[in-house]
Amino acid sequence: MSNSTKYVFVTGGVTSSLGKGIISASLAKLLQARGYSATIQKLDPYINIDPGTLNPYEHGECFVTDDGAETDLDLGHYERFLNVPTSQANNVTTGRIYQAVIEKERRGEFLGKTVQVIPHITDEIKDRIQAVSKEGKFDIVITEIGGTVGDIESLPYVESVRQMLWEFENDCIVIHLTLVPYLAAAGELKTKPTQHSVKQMMELGVQPDILCCRTEHELDLTLRRKIAKFCNVSMNAVIESRDAESIYDVPLLMQAEELDKVVLEKLGLPTKSTPDLSNWTSFLSKLKNPVHEITIGLIGKYVELKDSYKSISESIIHAGVTNETKVNVKWIHSEKLSKSNISNELSELDGILVAPGFGSRGISGKIEAVQYARENNIPFFGICLGMQCAVIEFARNVLGLEEAHTTEINESTKHPVISMMEEQKTIADLGGTMRLGAYKCQLKPKTKVSNAYNTDIISERHRHRFEFNNSYLNDFEEAGMMATGKNPETGLVEIVEIPNHPWFVGTQFHPEYKSTVDRPHPLFVAFIQAALHNKK
Ligand code: GLN
Repeated sequence: MSNSTKYVFVTGGVTSSLGKGIISASLAKLLQARGYSATIQKLDPYINIDPGTLNPYEHGECFVTDDGAETDLDLGHYERFLNVPTSQANNVTTGRIYQAVIEKERRGEFLGKTVQVIPHITDEIKDRIQAVSKEGKFDIVITEIGGTVGDIESLPYVESVRQMLWEFENDCIVIHLTLVPYLAAAGELKTKPTQHSVKQMMELGVQPDILCCRTEHELDLTLRRKIAKFCNVSMNAVIESRDAESIYDVPLLMQAEELDKVVLEKLGLPTKSTPDLSNWTSFLSKLKNPVHEITIGLIGKYVELKDSYKSISESIIHAGVTNETKVNVKWIHSEKLSKSNISNELSELDGILVAPGFGSRGISGKIEAVQYARENNIPFFGICLGMQCAVIEFARNVLGLEEAHTTEINESTKHPVISMMEEQKTIADLGGTMRLGAYKCQLKPKTKVSNAYNTDIISERHRHRFEFNNSYLNDFEEAGMMATGKNPETGLVEIVEIPNHPWFVGTQFHPEYKSTVDRPHPLFVAFIQAALHNKK
């Protein structure tokens, strides 16, 4: 291998939703805590170029990296666990692989050869795996293969893993996640699906080194022995992965199973020191022993699928821990909110968060929620579309601009208080064409946001097409809604605030993408603190 990086592949069998992302993130955390630099990559077998154009109902939230990549939500877990930023290289889809290969073919780079899945697609996959750790940047790369082994679309990925195992046999291992179901009628855990899943891997030429067995009950020695024997793995490589109370328990559960030790042994790396997880355990103990309790309303239009707001709900958990507060989240469907029920739905809340979103569905409920929070002095946090709704509500109900709207929803509104950036107007493609990724923002001193951040220049991630229309800025500021954060280069308004309210903040950017266990996001921390003060 060109550098000293080692590779851990994580595959899944039997069923989806076994928690490959959390296991990968937990393993990376343990390796990091032992002093190794580790990163995680997710390979997604679907044909979309990225999840940016996917409806959140399909795969949950779209996570955005500093470099503006729209990625799988598992990257959010990686960042929250590791506190290390990821990038475009950390998430690759089949669509992107094929796009790259086809572009090379058009440029004549295959010199007249027939372009085929093997070797051209698999070569591209292997290149992408190795590209994550350019110049040996990481000691260990954990590559998670999305989907379930046996699916047609994951075949080229498993084949690429097979080739890498053969080419770099001392530098690669495979962890296979399976399910050990409990049959209530028989009162037994069943290992057969695991045996079959491993057999399927072996038919593809890959022998897993470690098995992570998701189970609801203890995997006793007899079961471990049986799995080891029938699946060709050593006893200590049969890892129990029990259902956990919180995803943040999983690194400790994996440590108890010595997953990290087995991985290092198999990679031929020294175990170094015992992992230093003191920050993590103190986070967990605060999470489990809260002093206070509050309820926040999360107003969105995808609330049936909570994964659609994964980063927001995790940020709330982090900020709750900082405030030693258990934060209950009441998920409120914006489409179901109207003048007639708003007080019923929101009056018991200690804080109100209006979520990001696209399109007109549910927007009037979001605007109603903003008005309720503003008029009743309830701490309010509006994110992206939530901030835009706050601007629209203020324009309509305070400035008296009755028809004020965003041009996303009413193109010919008389008062386009939120409108499209000039550069965006000529773009026809929907994928990857928004204002994406990290931008600087200058904070106004002595404001709620500058207090929260305790600095005056910040960098936050964006994902939107529409912006505050600066021709209305004076009117807003005279009436009491201030632009307290602006892009220093373009003057675009990134944050609005109402100083004359206990806590009313709207951000055009998405703070939720940067909250981690080690660094809970200052705006979420301040919002939860304000909600705690407001506690009913
Ligand atoms: N739909 C809005 C825009 O494109 C907000 C996007 C969002 O909330 N992420 O500007």
